[in-house]
Amino acid sequence: MSSVSLNGGTLTVSTIYCVGKNYEAHAKEMREKLGLNFAEAPLDEPILFSKPASSLVHSGACISIPQFKGQPISHDMHHELELVVLIGKRAIAISETEAADYVAGFGVGLDMTLRDRQTRAKQNGQPWLVSKGFRTAAAVSEFVAHPLQAVETFKITLQKNGALVQQGYPRKMTFTIPFLISYLSHIFGLEAGDLIFTGTPEGVGKVNSGDTLTATLYGGDRVLTTLQAHVK
Ligand code: ZN
Repeated sequence: MSSVSLNGGTLTVSTIYCVGKNYEAHAKEMREKLGLNFAEAPLDEPILFSKPASSLVHSGACISIPQFKGQPISHDMHHELELVVLIGKRAIAISETEAADYVAGFGVGLDMTLRDRQTRAKQNGQPWLVSKGFRTAAAVSEFVAHPLQAVETFKITLQKNGALVQQGYPRKMTFTIPFLISYLSHIFGLEAGDLIFTGTPEGVGKVNSGDTLTATLYGGDRVLTTLQAHVK
């Protein structure tokens, strides 16, 4: 069973939901990477995918590309720095104004992505499961309890080998956390221990063997929680 830590206690993780393209600057960098130089119409609903609970790892873990038949299945693993929401109780078809009652805490996470596999899947109309759901693809910090309105003060940063590579302000998300919780509660229903990876700001990039990744969640100037991972 996969679990996360919340203020020293433990919660069993149920489903890991993830949101794609939730910061406009990152959506733009992905369009440019694919050679698509046009603005997209605003989305009415978020782009969602999920990761198996078996993909979860905690601070201090090694992240690696899986091998199959003795060969790595990818040569292009990327970091995506994200704010992660931990759900505290069952939520079925709730409104945005009720969403705060269902948040147990916040953490910082890395949505590790095999970009070459994801690009191939997109081109062939195939699902993203291998590129997003492999073992060690979901790295999370310890979670800390905070009121939902504190998100306005949050900042997330990622350092690779000590150099800042990603930085984002969750208040700039396209789909807000209350919207995401309400939406997920209507479509799937949320359970205690569900995680929501809320999307990455710009600056995603490749990681290499030997890299150290340090992700930090700030509330104002204060460090709330951190995650360190090593790339094997
Ligand atoms: Zn992501």
